[in-house]
Amino acid sequence: MQQLTQHAFWLTSAVGAHCYWLDAGDRVAIIDPGMKAGLNRVARELRQAGRSPYEVTDILLTHYDIDHTGAAAEWQRRTGARAWLGAADAAILTGAVPAATSFRRFTSRIGRPELPGNLRLLDGDEELWPGLVALHTPGHTPGHHAFRADGVLFAGDAARSSHGRLAPMADVLMTSVRQGRADLARLRALGVDWYCCGHSDPERRR
Ligand SMILES: [Zn+2]
Repeated sequence: MQQLTQHAFWLTSAVGAHCYWLDAGDRVAIIDPGMKAGLNRVARELRQAGRSPYEVTDILLTHYDIDHTGAAAEWQRRTGARAWLGAADAAILTGAVPAATSFRRFTSRIGRPELPGNLRLLDGDEELWPGLVALHTPGHTPGHHAFRADGVLFAGDAARSSHGRLAPMADVLMTSVRQGRADLARLRALGVDWYCCGHSDPERRR
């Protein structure tokens, strides 16, 4: 568990995408818990840091990809926490709407993560609680949201960070490359101190 700010931590033992922990007092969030294979490792990492997985009140999911959400349903079952996911991504997970690109339709045939219980749907920018804002960034997946709190941007797969700056993800991973560029411009304009992305190590903004 690596402390980044007073309230934000990086849980380094997760499997899949990067996983973060936000301790906001009466709300404690895990952001993108990663794949199921890492669930026990993350729980152990928390315990070694003197924390408990059962402190989690909110499971924030940037988007539906299995490397970010694979462990979410099990985390939710064990903790009873609220889970948050973009409405458009939840519709893809239930099968109500097909994935938007042929690449994604192919990967969803291999495996689709289970939709967590106690689910709250996000549909656009929203303040989830004082100081925690969801930012709709639909370029990567239609229901993708980044989260901002405590001077930290949890960007999910809307961007990666490189040398303290936000950079685009590979085009093949985007549902809409054009929308992704607009999301990136918007996130770059935020006056945060830290970039915490899904697939690059957390960095201070330069
Ligand atoms: Zn993704």
